[in-house]
Amino acid sequence: MPRHLTPRLIEAYADQSSTYQTFDPKGRMHIVCPQCRALILLLEDIPAAIRTEIARLRQDVQMINAIKRLRAVSDCGLAQAKANVQHICLAGPACNKCAAPLQSGSLLCPACFSVNLPWADSPDLVPTPGHRNAST
Ligand SMILES: [Zn+2]
Ligand SMILES: [Zn+2]
Repeated sequence: MPRHLTPRLIEAYADQSSTYQTFDPKGRMHIVCPQCRALILLLEDIPAAIRTEIARLRQDVQMINAIKRLRAVSDCGLAQAKANVQHICLAGPACNKCAAPLQSGSLLCPACFSVNLPWADSPDLVPTPGHRNAST
């Protein structure tokens, strides 16, 4: 069992009705975060280059700009855009919640089960050299 995932959390995760009272995925692909129970849209219809741009803003802690950019390219409301931006993984890649190292491309942190959107891992961009050591 992941380190931070308590039996209480697992039990809470079984009932996701409150999540769906707060968020409406409108039929789109999504995942409910086992850690904080926010609903995260995968938004794979947004071009990879734009998702990477949003991820870079988030990793530079420009949360407001990342949220604005996401809202400009999707129909996300403020709460949804905030939840999505918050769950973009940190450079490394590392977990946005507990900073544990992540497998490239994995959606769930192995340590805390927080959802991590691998938006910075866009295949159509050359990796930025400065980002390799950003987790130190
Ligand atoms: Zn979460
Ligand atoms: Zn984590």
